[in-house]
Parts: sequence; structure tokens; C-alpha cells
Amino acid sequence: MFTWSYSSLKDYITCPKQYQEVKVLKNYQKEMTEQILYGNQVHKALENYIKDGEPLAQNYQRFAPLMDTLKEIPGEFHPELRMALNFDRKACKWSDPECWVRGIVDFLVIDGEHAFIVDYKTGSNKYPDVKQLRLMALMVMEHFPQINKVKAGLMFVMHNSFITEEYTREESEKLWNSFIPDLERLKLSYEKDIWHATPNNLCGWCPVKSCEHHKER
Ligand code: SF4
Repeated sequence: MFTWSYSSLKDYITCPKQYQEVKVLKNYQKEMTEQILYGNQVHKALENYIKDGEPLAQNYQRFAPLMDTLKEIPGEFHPELRMALNFDRKACKWSDPECWVRGIVDFLVIDGEHAFIVDYKTGSNKYPDVKQLRLMALMVMEHFPQINKVKAGLMFVMHNSFITEEYTREESEKLWNSFIPDLERLKLSYEKDIWHATPNNLCGWCPVKSCEHHKER
């Protein structure tokens, strides 16, 4: 059985061949672009600001008002919480050999039966991908069994915009079902060892130089 995360599943959906070359065969590594590097640095700065009150560097000061709003939310804070579920979709340790899915929530507040989740985004807010919030909400509900309602949002820090969703425990099965078709395809790829190349507009950024569809940027 394979383990997955939201981003690895997304990579598979984008191009199974790239997923195979990078994640299964480990023939190539994904390139560390300037955007990824910047995103990682911002995440770290925001994490430290929330967790330890570490002042934001001058160039990140503009994120302070958004972060200060988050800090005012009542409840127990869990910044950058690592969560994992086993094959039975039950909470387990990150390193558990039975681990099935892993995810890190940027910002989580637990307040009674309510949870508030935020994922920081440094990219464009043009096509927000809220599906990752579903997975985070499902994992939070397993790690904190008292939670019945989750408010979750994508915080586009560069654009001062916030896209929110709300989920309830009653919807869990429906939310899981939204991942099943892609997970079934991924399972089949592993079983049959079939990984189709899927040319797409990211081929220029693909590390798989041996692919016939690879092109220089
Ligand atoms: S170049 Fe394009 S088609 Fe080929 S592996 Fe990479 S993403 Fe897939």
C-alpha cells in the first residue's frame, strides 16, 4: 500500500509519469523554484510569529495585520501541526508504519467542538484549490474527536484575500468520497505499474528530462 498527501495526489493527477519518475523511482527531484523557496520562507516566518511571537522581518511586515487577526481567535493553537491517518483512517503517528496519509496544517485552533484551519498561500488567488482544506478538516476530525464543525480557509497573504469553507462531521463520508476516484487510479497505477505521461502546461518545469514531452522553458 502507498502513502499519500494532498500534494502528492495532485502531482499524480497532473502527470502519472512524473509522479513515477520522482516519487516511485526517485530518478529525478522536483526543482526548487524561487516561488517555492519564497513560499517556504514566508511559511516559516508566519509559523514563528504565531508560535513564538518572533517579530516579522521588515519585508514580511505587511502580513502582520492578517496574522494578528488570527491570533485573536479564541482557543488552543496548533501551528504547523503534523497529522497522519492509518489505513483505517484513524489518527496515528507521523512515523507509524501503518500510516496511509499525511498532512501539515499551517494554522489550527481548537475551541470546544469547533476547529478553525488556515492554509497560508503566497501564490495567486485566481484558481483557489479548496479541496486540500477538505483533507485537512477530515484529518483534524480524526485527531480531535470532539470536533464536529470545521471552518477552513485559504489565506492568500499577498492579496489580502481569504477563501473559506465549512464542514461538519456528518459530511465526512461524502468528503472522503471526493478523494476515492483519484486514489483508486493511483492504486491501480501501483498495482499494474502503469504510469501514463500526461502533457500539460507545466512540462517546461518538469524535472523528467528524459520524457518525450519535456520542453525547455
Ligand atoms: S514532461 Fe510533461 S508529460 Fe513528461 S513527465 Fe513531465 S509533466 Fe509528464
